[in-house]
Amino acid sequence: AGAGAQKDRVVTEEEWLQKWETGNIGFHKEHGHPLLQKHLDVLLNGRSGLRIFFPLCGKAVEMKWLLDMGHSVVGVEVSEQALKEFFAEHSLPYCEEPVPGILGAKKLQSTSGNISLYCCSIYDLSSSVVGKFDAVWDRGALVAVNPRDRQRYVSLMITLMEKNSSYLLVTVSYDPNKHKGPPFYVPESEIKSLFG
Ligand code: SAH
Repeated sequence: AGAGAQKDRVVTEEEWLQKWETGNIGFHKEHGHPLLQKHLDVLLNGRSGLRIFFPLCGKAVEMKWLLDMGHSVVGVEVSEQALKEFFAEHSLPYCEEPVPGILGAKKLQSTSGNISLYCCSIYDLSSSVVGKFDAVWDRGALVAVNPRDRQRYVSLMITLMEKNSSYLLVTVSYDPNKHKGPPFYVPESEIKSLFG
């Protein structure tokens, strides 16, 4: 069995939207993730003024941390509610605009301009829309992607990375026969083959 136990599991966008609507968001960390604090130096690598990407961002408070350090942040999330809650909870004024080239997508951008959150599926993005990034914080993203979409997700992430970018990935380790996920169990060997 192993990780194969979860390989056909699918969580639809509708199900994710419903989690947000019903407040079933146990994945959200109100005080941010301790592993970002711990490994911040790896992500930043002594650089300042970075463009940092948050795939499947939810309303992660780590976005605010990095903004406050002077970086700029781009996130993508299917739930507009999540994005609006982010701006509201941090008292950040923002405006909304459609995204040329992505039907139905919206960009919510802070008035200050240093954070842009795209409301659409990650699979609708490309570097021609969002550009490339110096750093990626992947927590609750690779492990939230449906197992059958992992390679597509990682290949896309690679196209969004600048040459010297850093990628900080948080995974979870548990027996995939005992829980159906998400978060899904992604073994280290698979991570190595996904990123090549
Ligand atoms: N990274 C965040 C949220 C993790 S939960 C955190 O650390 O708190 C995963 C999030 O991905 C959910 O908010 C869900 O709505 C969103 N999501 C799921 N599939 C998506 C997709 N295809 N594109 C963009 N967002 C997606």
